[in-house]
Parts: sequence; structure tokens; C-alpha cells
Amino acid sequence: MRLEDLAEEILRCEKCPLHLNRKRAVPGEGNPNSRIMFIGEAPGRNEDEMGRPFVGAAGKLLEELLISIGLRRQDVFITNVVKCRPPNNRDPRPEEIEACLPYLKAQIELIDPEILVPLGRHSVGVLLGRIGEISILGVRGKVYEVEVFGAIRKVLPTLHPAAALYNPRLKPLIREDFEKLKSLISSGLEGWF
Ligand code: URA
Ligand code: SF4
Repeated sequence: MRLEDLAEEILRCEKCPLHLNRKRAVPGEGNPNSRIMFIGEAPGRNEDEMGRPFVGAAGKLLEELLISIGLRRQDVFITNVVKCRPPNNRDPRPEEIEACLPYLKAQIELIDPEILVPLGRHSVGVLLGRIGEISILGVRGKVYEVEVFGAIRKVLPTLHPAAALYNPRLKPLIREDFEKLKSLISSGLEGWF
């Protein structure tokens, strides 16, 4: 299975009720050889219209944060836990997450990244399991070496960029976490992208 075939499958997917209200599914995009993968929660209104992840205000902040550590959006792979927009941006339900998770699993297996960066508490909860159940402020900015879908990976949780936009006091924290990411990759940045 190639990443493109997976994306095709996601675009046609009807495995959970979220397909009923979506305009377009949002499989994710970026460098298929990236060593870093960013994982948000779910597409919002703009993403649903465009079929692309993080293209609204939160995406702008994400891009700015990437630039601040010397990365471009196209250097990394960006996706979400669920691939279709929940109505009115409500939280995805556990059964919707469960239905969609095989796609994220397959993407992680195909891209085989060294570092996973879950954005916000939903994505953190999915990747870190019970550890993720403690507050996002308690786990953010730390590097966890954990088994994710059967392989050991580094997980560096951070806040959701939308949360940092909503509460500007969180912005320095998300910046700090991106600096942490930079220091994590700077040892072997050459050949990473
Ligand atoms: N928020 C998310 O979690 N994902 C997106 O793609 C956009 C906003
Ligand atoms: Fe399929 Fe995931 Fe969309 Fe549900 S959210 S319809 S499982 S692609």
C-alpha cells in the first residue's frame, strides 16, 4: 500500500458517520520521507473545504512555528487523528476515532517517522494512552519513548495551535516545545529531509 492509495481510500471512506457531513475528507499531506509527523485532532471548516490539513488560522501558526525552527511545511508530514470534520467542530467521538485510527496507523507505518508530535490533548491521548490522560500541560514539551501501534517511537506532545491562538498566554509554551523539537533533531538534521 502506498501513501497515495491510502489517501484515495480515505477520500472514499464511509466507515463512520462523519462521512455524512463532510465536504472533503482530509488524509494529510507533506513529505512522505519526513522523520517528523504532526498529528492534529480533526479537520475544521477550512480544511473540510480544501481537503488539506491545517490551512486555517491554526495552520498559519503551525507554519510560523515550523519556520522558526528552520523547517518548511512541505518538509514534514501533517495529518489528523480523524480525517473528516465533525459537525460544528465538536470533539470526535470515541467510536469515530476508533473507526479512523487504522488510517493513522497505516500512515505512521508507511512514513516510519522517528518523532511524532501530537498537537493537543485528543491527539496526545491517542498516542500516549493513559499517560495522555493527564493534563496536556503536564506532558507537553517532554519526549516520550513509547510503543505506538507496535513500534517504539519518540513522542513529543505539544499544545494545539488553536489553543495557543485562543489563549495567547500559551504561545510561549508552544514555542518552547518547538525549540525542544529543534534541539531533538539538530544533532542529525542533515539527511533528515
Ligand atoms: N485543527 C486540527 O486539529 N486539524 C486541522 O487540520 C485544522 C485545525
Ligand atoms: Fe472514514 Fe475516518 Fe472519515 Fe470516519 S472520519 S468516514 S473513519 S475517513
